[in-house]
Amino acid sequence: MSETVQKRVNFLNICTIVPPNGLWQILSNGCGEVFVAEGLRRKRNVKIVATLGPASSSQEIVEKLFEEGVDVFRLNLSHGTHGEIRKRHSTIRNVEKKFGRPICILADLQGPKLRCGKFDGQEAELIVGNSFRFDNKDELGNCHRVTLPNFEVFKGLQIGSKVLVNDGKIRLVVKATGDDFVETEVVLGGIVSDRKGINIPDQVLPLSALSEKDMEDLEFVCSLGIDWLGLSFVQRASDIGRARKLIKGRAAILAKIEKPSAVEAFDEILEETDAVMVARGDLGVELPIETLPPIQKRLVRQCRAHGKPVIVATQMMESMIKSPVPTRAEVSDVAQAIYEGADAIMLSAESAVGQYPIEAVKTMNSIATEVEKEKTYRQVIESSRTPLKRGVSDAITVAAREVAETTNVKVICCFTHTGTTAALTSRERPRVPIIALTPKIAIARRIALNWGLHCVVTQEVNRFKMAVVNAAKAARLYGFAMDKDKIIVIAGVPFNVPGTTNILRVAPADEKKIFDGEIS
Ligand code: PGA
Ligand code: MN
Repeated sequence: MSETVQKRVNFLNICTIVPPNGLWQILSNGCGEVFVAEGLRRKRNVKIVATLGPASSSQEIVEKLFEEGVDVFRLNLSHGTHGEIRKRHSTIRNVEKKFGRPICILADLQGPKLRCGKFDGQEAELIVGNSFRFDNKDELGNCHRVTLPNFEVFKGLQIGSKVLVNDGKIRLVVKATGDDFVETEVVLGGIVSDRKGINIPDQVLPLSALSEKDMEDLEFVCSLGIDWLGLSFVQRASDIGRARKLIKGRAAILAKIEKPSAVEAFDEILEETDAVMVARGDLGVELPIETLPPIQKRLVRQCRAHGKPVIVATQMMESMIKSPVPTRAEVSDVAQAIYEGADAIMLSAESAVGQYPIEAVKTMNSIATEVEKEKTYRQVIESSRTPLKRGVSDAITVAAREVAETTNVKVICCFTHTGTTAALTSRERPRVPIIALTPKIAIARRIALNWGLHCVVTQEVNRFKMAVVNAAKAARLYGFAMDKDKIIVIAGVPFNVPGTTNILRVAPADEKKIFDGEIS
């Protein structure tokens, strides 16, 4: 921590922002000084999500990943035991405590992923042109047939429907259906082994959004305390509502878009969900791979328009699982997501099981820093912004961005109770950094996923003057502004009433001036 503490500035004797742990003692021992914790702020707007796994579970590595730039840690319920997940979760919270910065946790449910049964000899070879049958017999499979544990899902299949096995490596097409079998022809052959995944891209399946395992996992992670719950294989908007009933407000919902039906129903899904992941892994199995870039662009734009965070995920730095440097194409792919204005970019296997998790985060961080300092980046981001004029809060956040564009203010500081005002400010993708101040740690953690938000936990404030003082302190503490600078403060008065954002103030970053009467 000590190397992140960079320089001293004057300190006024009231401190109501909750500073990093190590600094708290300094502030409260009355020595009259505060340090600038500039090392604890990011120098980019796009957020980095990293999946934890066997390669990244120790306290030491999680700490290093955070220091190098991870804003959101992802726990993947498709892999690992509850014991392992619990340990990773507490490691993240320990790191959060050590650095005194809110850290966001996303837990991803496995979702209703179909798998075939087992084979006699663990595998079978499917030959192009041959028939292959799925049924509900209680027998080991062979090169002619295999059991499908959730056979009822196959009931809706039609002649001509595609069935993909093992991430689409094997392709079958339905030729005939009966009460207890589905007959297919092998279009692309290969070896299929026990419990391989099956994708049926063409149809909305009669599957509930949450399997029994998902329900248990949901309760488990909600009891640990998470910020976002990722729903896999969402098919329709009603899947979200069903999950929301079970979550009971314990986490916000992130819909993973990885089915063609979800792409089709995206407008309705976006209305229901709190955030989105463009899950290119399964999406690229279920849809022709060339359709991914336009879908990614469209979904990112729509999410931005709604001010709901969007993560671009999967194979972003895939070669870094085994290599300390990425390919040029990967660097370009990461940059592309940043230019699109995605809220976050994600590491999956690279950080969970790869050999170079820290290098992968460092690389993403440096690509983001480089891209975002270019003039072209601002031009692209600004030209892809959409107007939003619905209410006072929207107007205030738009105004904050416009004031930042026309004056020399250093930062927009926004007080937020539910996170909505902060999300709206982030939606504007302003040219200056944003500090989101909130008395609720759960909100600070959650909105750490949103583009550009530097989240700070404050004590409750009940007067606008105190809000300005806190904003000024936070701006200086994290090195966003110096004494002589100006900041923008937006807040809602009366405080503690959600949805009341109604004040925009340009204020000095030096609290002495605030107390000297510049702000009443
Ligand atoms: P997964 O989701 O890593 O949980 O499969 C992401 C994707 O499919 O891209
Ligand atoms: Mn997936």
